[in-house]
Amino acid sequence: MTISSLLPAPAAPAAAPAAEPGSAVFRHLNDAQRRAAGYGIGAGKAGHGPLLVIAGAGSGKTLTLAARVARLVLAGADPSRILMLTFSRRAAAEMERRVGQVLHEALGLAPLRGAPRLAWCGTFHAIGARLLRGHAAQIGLDASFTVDDRGESEDLLHVLRQRLGLAATRKRFPQKSTCLAIYSRVVNSQAGLREVLASVFPWCGDWHEELKQLFAAYADEKQAQRVLDFDDLLVWWAAALAEPAVAAAMAGRFDHVLVDEYQDTNRLQAEILFGLKPDGRGLTVVGDDAQAIYSFRAAEVRNILDFADRFTPPAEVVTLERNYRSTVPLLAASNAVIALAAERHAKTLWSDAPMVEPPAIVWVAGESEQAAWVADRVLQLRETGIVLKSQAVLFRAAQHSAALELELARRDIPFVKYGGLRFLDSAHVKDVLAVLRFAANPRGERAGLRALQLVPGIGPASAARLMAQMAGVADPEAALRAFQPTASNASGWRDFADVFAALRRPGSAWPDEIGAVERWYRPQLERLHDDAAPRAADIAHLVRLTAGYPSRESFLTELALDPPAATSDESGPGGHDEDSLILSTIHSAKGQEWIAVSVLNVVDGCIPSDMATGNVAEIEEERRLLYVAMTRARHHLHLLVPQRFYVTQQAAYGDRHVYAAISRFLPESIRDRFVHLTPGEEAEGECGARDELTAAAMHDVGARVRSAWR
Ligand code: ATP
Ligand code: MG
Repeated sequence: MTISSLLPAPAAPAAAPAAEPGSAVFRHLNDAQRRAAGYGIGAGKAGHGPLLVIAGAGSGKTLTLAARVARLVLAGADPSRILMLTFSRRAAAEMERRVGQVLHEALGLAPLRGAPRLAWCGTFHAIGARLLRGHAAQIGLDASFTVDDRGESEDLLHVLRQRLGLAATRKRFPQKSTCLAIYSRVVNSQAGLREVLASVFPWCGDWHEELKQLFAAYADEKQAQRVLDFDDLLVWWAAALAEPAVAAAMAGRFDHVLVDEYQDTNRLQAEILFGLKPDGRGLTVVGDDAQAIYSFRAAEVRNILDFADRFTPPAEVVTLERNYRSTVPLLAASNAVIALAAERHAKTLWSDAPMVEPPAIVWVAGESEQAAWVADRVLQLRETGIVLKSQAVLFRAAQHSAALELELARRDIPFVKYGGLRFLDSAHVKDVLAVLRFAANPRGERAGLRALQLVPGIGPASAARLMAQMAGVADPEAALRAFQPTASNASGWRDFADVFAALRRPGSAWPDEIGAVERWYRPQLERLHDDAAPRAADIAHLVRLTAGYPSRESFLTELALDPPAATSDESGPGGHDEDSLILSTIHSAKGQEWIAVSVLNVVDGCIPSDMATGNVAEIEEERRLLYVAMTRARHHLHLLVPQRFYVTQQAAYGDRHVYAAISRFLPESIRDRFVHLTPGEEAEGECGARDELTAAAMHDVGARVRSAWR
């Protein structure tokens, strides 16, 4: 269902009387929100000038953006010509839901089941992929390109590093992940390699020439294999927009471009936006500089700070001052944390939501006590009527939740985790995806090598021989068909060739295709793995996920860009079938809110992370991370401070418990904003008695937690 199908014909906007700003749907917006939502509406063909909404957490920025889209549509804008860029697929789905809701209400329609779709709403990368495919012929790109995820890009760099002989040099060459990080930083910050090495990777400074050579080979190889990496989607998009004819065609698709979380865009993304809307007409951006948490990926907070003045006349700026999310004492505590930032984020933010419970610092003995306390607390809150999915536990790094995950499993408390290890990273899921990717792009080397080696009797040498044959010919499919395997695996080869041919057949029906791959893969799975049954269940889950995608191409692209973080991540807008507690890294919690939030490990070494205490800017980003975490909470906020946990000391000393210090972002001077709980000193029963099972399990977890510090 698309929004346009819900609307009266565009020629008759008058049929939507609820479009009036004073109507019920918009009445709950405050004045500033209403001004932003309605800015420039009715400006006619020329469109409105640029608009910036800059405001603190929970002030309704995202809601205002959704209301603005709805108002534009109700005023006659064509929804298929509106481009909405948000930070994650999850945020995009949420945006669509909100826009749909406002429109339904405004039009007086009965609530619909399922969310209506905005045709162009997604992440920069996903939208980039779609536009590049659409304009491929114009820009000399093979429209059947596939998108490599970060892991695959690292693997390709690794292969090239070997091929160029860089791996065996006098000094150790940077690791493949470092190479990709350097490359990505150069690309996204639009800075020179030398500059990036000096400022961010000084220990790699000696490798300037070799890295340049490596990156050149990397670019060539991707082009030869018809693959784009994650960053290429932005690079190609920006480069395409530098061609006037292409820019005109791409920009001509959109009357309005709206961006949420603008503080976390990088230079390349800003360049793309200004390529689409050079004079800012039709452009709206929304964000909060106090929540900039992605500079480690070259996000550029100056994008939002300098936005207004890059236009003449300057962009309209709307600030929102009322926080609707958090109660008064929660907001006071978050404000106290951000007020200590070196760079002031001077924003007046007030709330009049009455206190439900004061924010608390919870002093627990160690990580197992922390896990037990959080689990207890979650159940207590559920007893008071707060369902699990309205509660979240946030942490700085994915592995910090290990002990808690175990505790939750032990107590049968269902949870979903965002920002952690994904089931897509497992070998068997990668196998199935490799077959699909190979069929989509027979020149993609890594997918091809992986898929071919699943065939019984085909090893690395045969696979490489066939890939080389396929690379050099106009019809790679014919080369595959003509390939002669050794006699012993002829039937296994035939089965594979049949599946491959079926997948390549024009008009082959999606998602039936993946069913064919699943059937072919099942015996391979049994041959290759002892524990085939749980892996087969994952594949079945993958097959179910495909139902939400219109084509193989969009499925593969989306998965590479923004993979589901949890198995239930795909259960659709509105949440999960089962009520589950939310576990999330702070980065993945951006833009979200929950009634109750607990933040784990609010100690130095975790927040700020000991990986990020190199310089003042990094530490300040960690402070903003804590601010982002705290401002997710509506009524209940608990910051947990385990006073002892495992860290890895220098090898000579081995692993050991150390006494942790409360995060430096909660100095004595602001601790009176919190109540202080010390559960160890409370009466027995709270989280006192621990049974043997937990003790044994904790032993295991200790190993996992320690590994996080290596
Ligand atoms: P963040 O900075 O975390 O992204 P935000 O500024 O985007 O936050 P929203 O998520 O849009 O804020 O809104 C926060 C909460 O406040 C939501 O629950 C939203 O429904 C509510 N809200 C926003 N504006 C209003 C309003 N005018 N009246 C009532 N509730 C509102
Ligand atoms: Mg928001």
